[in-house]
Amino acid sequence: MSNEKKEPDLMEKIVSLCKRRGFIFQSSEIYGGLNSCWDYGPLGSELKRNVKDAWWNAVVRAREDVVGIDASILMHPRVWEASGHVAGFTDPLVDCKQCKKRFRADHIGVATSGPPRPPRKEGEGEAPAEPSASEPLAAPAPKRCPECGGELTEARQFNLMFKTFMGPVEESASVVFMRPETAQGIFVNFENVQTSARLKIPFGIAQIGKSFRNEITPGNFIFRTREFEQMEIEFFCKPGTDEQWFEHWKAERLQWYIDLGIRREKLRMRPHAADELAHYAKACVDVEYEFPFGWSELEGVANRADFDLKRHQEYSGKSLEYFDDATREHYIPYVIEPSAGADRSILTFLVDAYEEVQTEKETERFLRLHPKLAPIKVGILPLVNKAGMPELARQVFDGLRKRLACYYDTAGAIGRRYRRQDEIGTPFCCTIDGQSLEDKTVTVRHRDSREQPRVAIPDLGAFLAEKIENAKSNRV
Ligand code: ATP
Repeated sequence: MSNEKKEPDLMEKIVSLCKRRGFIFQSSEIYGGLNSCWDYGPLGSELKRNVKDAWWNAVVRAREDVVGIDASILMHPRVWEASGHVAGFTDPLVDCKQCKKRFRADHIGVATSGPPRPPRKEGEGEAPAEPSASEPLAAPAPKRCPECGGELTEARQFNLMFKTFMGPVEESASVVFMRPETAQGIFVNFENVQTSARLKIPFGIAQIGKSFRNEITPGNFIFRTREFEQMEIEFFCKPGTDEQWFEHWKAERLQWYIDLGIRREKLRMRPHAADELAHYAKACVDVEYEFPFGWSELEGVANRADFDLKRHQEYSGKSLEYFDDATREHYIPYVIEPSAGADRSILTFLVDAYEEVQTEKETERFLRLHPKLAPIKVGILPLVNKAGMPELARQVFDGLRKRLACYYDTAGAIGRRYRRQDEIGTPFCCTIDGQSLEDKTVTVRHRDSREQPRVAIPDLGAFLAEKIENAKSNRV
């Protein structure tokens, strides 16, 4: 994470808008809140659904070579031994002896010596009998507390998996883990999916679902939380073609954000340095975004070679080899993994879309969300709340709402109602005025260009659907 161009105010503005307008609330707020847990409100849940749909449509529906699954969160405990998470899904933790604050050592530049061990890279070493709790690392931390300058403790490795118990008895034999990533649900179903869907290599399996990590330092709103949603693809290919597929997915995933309106100059691809790379990964690139708190990972694209399937083959005793009937070869496929976070994507879309325009009277706030992502597509507004306009507006609303997320609003002056829609990212507003009563047309105000063409009421649904479907950018 770099320190360039930090804009802490922007985060505060986003958090406050999210709460005020019903995008995101703190979890259990009436009880004082639960640290790092967030609830998506009426607009936030629509936005989240739209983000996940946009991803699913791009990587599953639009392609012939990717299918979806929806695996369970709780899995056989041996899965996490095979994957390496029991032994190695750890972050180095340091405490300040003076102010008692806790940090991830790698985030504050504290060297953790001993064997080179990049933070949070599962798949290292063999599984111990019990998940590792907090084992000290070799060397003392040379750096001091970034908050108060106090002395830091030695770094200890802390396993990030949440444990729980299956069934009524809380004993070690019934320990299960809340999955820390959705990927393993894909690997263990590789054979089921390949044979049932009659797929031939190369093909991918995609999944969206909740993951849980007991993060040492959650924060930055929904950027790093302990419960979050992932959108992951495991793309299986023949060894030797993996580098070409790695390039393919890097380009695809970057383009997805650009197509949904994220500014290109705010995105970058950061290849992992050799000491960051998990030992089994051939290559890994992070898609990074310049958040108000600095450049940070939005998505990771990794070439994991045949590590995962090999490990599951070894631990389960079941063959996970693929037979290629064209070439009569048996092999364990290589895998390319684009792994994105739904919540981090949402934060990115919100931050990137937020704009303030200063007028003589006030500060107007806009969320210039891509029409496909906007939680409300159309505001339906009678110009005045009388003279037959609300009745006609209601008819327009009832005609459109089954097709598009609409919002009917009669409260206050028309300018204020437009601004309420601008602030939540609504791309279009249909205004029913005096002329509408005569010729059954409405104005369609475009959020960004401020164009206001008149459209006949019977044509509205098709007009708006076309604009949303074919929007080339987040400016309408
Ligand atoms: P980081 O270095 O930021 O902790 P990571 O490299 O551990 O992330 P991955 O394991 O590659 O993350 O997970 C893939 C994606 O899942 C991330 O790019 C991010 O979008 C999302 N993600 C991971 N951890 C969290 C979290 N604690 N909160 C929200 N999203 C997360």
